[in-house]
Amino acid sequence: MSDIKKLQECISQFTEERDWDQFHNGKDLAIALSLEASELLENFLWKSPNDANLEKIKEELADVINYAFLIASKYDLDITQIVLDKLKKNAEKYPIHKAKGSAKKYTEL
Ligand SMILES: [Mg+2]
Repeated sequence: MSDIKKLQECISQFTEERDWDQFHNGKDLAIALSLEASELLENFLWKSPNDANLEKIKEELADVINYAFLIASKYDLDITQIVLDKLKKNAEKYPIHKAKGSAKKYTEL
């Protein structure tokens, strides 16, 4: 079993042990992920990027990842596969010869 699958199972087990799956529909999980992403952002607000508290960043990033994994579990998605599929799409949108060193959106390359 891959490390990602093991991690996904640990997160699902945490939820099952607390009988929280009843609250975890796709919509509310997506909202929770967005809220945790906002908590991550809050650590950077009114500061230069290097002044953000790394411990708090780790915690909020872990919250975001936890919800991302729960969404993947909810829809029975293979995390490795969907990430690789999206990287392939992004590689097509952002070919190296056009995108290297550029921060432009693919529509403007
Ligand atoms: Mg949080």
